[in-house]
Amino acid sequence: MHIKKGLAMHVHHEKLVEWCFNYDERAEFIRTEKPPEERETRLRLFKLFKGELPPELVEAGRVFEEAQRVYVEAGRVYDEAGRVRVEAGRVYDEAFRVYDEARRVYNKAGQVYDESVWVHIKANRVYVEAERVYDGPRQVRVEAGLVYDIAGRVYDEAGRVFNEAHRAYDKVLNKNMPAIEALHRIECPNCPWNGHTIFPKT
Ligand SMILES: [Zn+2]
Repeated sequence: MHIKKGLAMHVHHEKLVEWCFNYDERAEFIRTEKPPEERETRLRLFKLFKGELPPELVEAGRVFEEAQRVYVEAGRVYDEAGRVRVEAGRVYDEAFRVYDEARRVYNKAGQVYDESVWVHIKANRVYVEAERVYDGPRQVRVEAGLVYDIAGRVYDEAGRVFNEAHRAYDKVLNKNMPAIEALHRIECPNCPWNGHTIFPKT
């Protein structure tokens, strides 16, 4: 499905222009979450610019949007790595509990060794097997931790790039504000915007 996006006017009531990542999503939010008496005005004024925008602003918006996409995806991977790490920890804990119990039984068997050499050997067999089984989840937990750390670093870096792109975009937007304001005057007639809000106190 095609997502309507780009430079928009009155995305929020206290800003004139912003880069809008998803027009329909924001409009739906206004329709369902904003105070009912504000909805008509907000929906009437919230529009994507139709006129030709300064090319450097379009390019900065594209970079901003790509950085946002990468940032969101990195966050998703980070969350998933965290989930895997928690699950690996749970399996590890359970394996450790079994291992610990086998060790307890083994130690107990050691105490009655004098009474029964046979019991001692059998318990040792169980203990060794439990240790072998325990080693698998232990290694998986270590690897899950490493993946989690890497995903965290990627997420941080993506966040840094996103913030940089955001700053660059804001800079270009500010620089081109006179052109944008001129477009707004043409495309948004009878607008109550007073430079600060579309809801000026009367
Ligand atoms: Zn307006």
